[in-house]
Amino acid sequence: TALILRTNLNQGVPGPEHFELRQLPRPQIGDGILVQLLVVSADPYMRYRIRSDGDYKANAPMLGLVAGKVLESKVSEWEPGDLFGAELPYIDIQAVPASKLAMFRRLTGLLSEETISRGIGALGMPGSTAYGGLTDILRPKNGEVLWVSGAAGAVGSMVGMIAKHVFGCTVIGSAGGPEKCKLVTERFGFDHCIDYKACQSTRDLIMALGKVAPSGIDMYFENVGGMHFEAAMKCLRPNGRVAVCGVISDYNNPKMSPNKIYISNMIYTSQRIEGFQCFPWLSGERGNFLQDMAKWVDEGKVKVEETVFHGLESFGSAFRALFEGGNTGKVVVRVQAG
Ligand code: NDP
Repeated sequence: TALILRTNLNQGVPGPEHFELRQLPRPQIGDGILVQLLVVSADPYMRYRIRSDGDYKANAPMLGLVAGKVLESKVSEWEPGDLFGAELPYIDIQAVPASKLAMFRRLTGLLSEETISRGIGALGMPGSTAYGGLTDILRPKNGEVLWVSGAAGAVGSMVGMIAKHVFGCTVIGSAGGPEKCKLVTERFGFDHCIDYKACQSTRDLIMALGKVAPSGIDMYFENVGGMHFEAAMKCLRPNGRVAVCGVISDYNNPKMSPNKIYISNMIYTSQRIEGFQCFPWLSGERGNFLQDMAKWVDEGKVKVEETVFHGLESFGSAFRALFEGGNTGKVVVRVQAG
């Protein structure tokens, strides 16, 4: 069974109506391996790719990050039962040619079938994003103050937990609504969380931040954009750093919103704004992501939080949840093999 993108979408919120399931003939193994997907990921970046100028084509299977197990193998490196993470089409059972296997990440030994969803979460792309963005781009020091938006979500929650429980920072989150803010402080252990939905303007957000960080912030981890970015720049201290990871508040609009900031402040205060992508840390080219993160999860410093949807057919609802705040932690779609 394949998950097919029915139509490209340039504006507005994606949902179940943009996807459908299609039955495919059982694949032939050839000289490669036969794999079964156990989980597939719904991620905000996919919103760009389903636009008509994006690289997802209507009437073709969705492509993204998955974790699964080997059913049969004709290659020596992989055995039946091995667990892996990879980027593959969303087809529950598929044959993968040997030439494509270099991109597989071995998860056997690190995860079980029960915990495999971490292969697309804490030990996958969002985990590597939080890890790289915090440890290499922001470079926190003990006692510094970090603000992170999207704090109840996959990347944001892990950024805050690592900053707080590994680096000893004071950590402030922002999230939509009191329930999410409670989760952020009580379960994830942040010092404070701002309910940005209670703020009508950038000024309100600056006031809310000023209350919990009266001397300003040293670091801002950007997941959302818009008024969050402006508020962060207003409260950023000398030698402050901003890691630009994502701007989800803009993803459903074809045009990006402009941001008003006073760049001259950056000269006298030696501040730094840096955008980044997760790949160097996910691939292991930079840092020790898999080992460090697995250890922090084991030690309980990073708590695994997931919102789980069941069946490939639920992908559209899972994807929509990202843009409507319907998730806490990582959005995971469990696949039932059929
Ligand atoms: P999340 O799990 O954080 O889910 C998205 C969350 O964004 C929602 O739950 C919602 O939370 C919030 N949100 C949605 N729309 C808005 C809006 N208009 N204004 C404010 N908040 C909104 O997703 P991820 O952790 O996977 O991704 C977080 C960010 O990181 C995204 O911007 C993504 O594109 C980016 N990213 C970047 C990567 C990179 O390599 N640079 C890699 C991975 C992710 P709430 O209820 O609090 O509003």
